[in-house]
Amino acid sequence: MNHAQLTALGRALRVLGEHGEALSADTPDARLHEVKADLRRALDLLEEGVTTAAPSTRCPEHPTGPVDESAPDLCLLCETRRRAARRAEFNGPPLPPEPTAPVPSRYGVRGDRPQPQQRWLPELWNGQAWQLCGTPRRDRREAELYIAAQRRGPRPAMAYRIVHEFTDYEVLRVWGTPVRVDIEPMGNL
Ligand SMILES: [Zn+2]
Repeated sequence: MNHAQLTALGRALRVLGEHGEALSADTPDARLHEVKADLRRALDLLEEGVTTAAPSTRCPEHPTGPVDESAPDLCLLCETRRRAARRAEFNGPPLPPEPTAPVPSRYGVRGDRPQPQQRWLPELWNGQAWQLCGTPRRDRREAELYIAAQRRGPRPAMAYRIVHEFTDYEVLRVWGTPVRVDIEPMGNL
């Protein structure tokens, strides 16, 4: 809206405000017709002046984009992006069925991960303790696929687990049973 249009609109709206102030049980119909005409004038000024589409979201990036009522900014595009980031970060998609051949992972490190400092550690139970058995991954699914491949390998360990290293260490999933094996004093070493 340009300056002249804004000035005209302001005047029209103030007139409407005065109508509102003056309204009472005694207001004659003739006066109401005047109100109607003034209202229409204000609406016409708006129709002329506002050429952009009304914003459907509160998102500064996608003001007229598709709406997601459950999103804080109503923006479906941004909410979809946020959901995907949360999912990838904390769960990862489910594993494929076990007895398939090892699949080369296509889930590499993603540059757009919001908190790239977190890692998923593959660990095996060596009979005494849990120990790291592969490179810490930036992607939980990749770590799970790695353990799945280890378990199908020629000499799998008794148990494996994934530890989420972030603000602390959290065990997310355990495969197998870590039974403590005592070392024989005269064992063949
Ligand atoms: Zn958006």
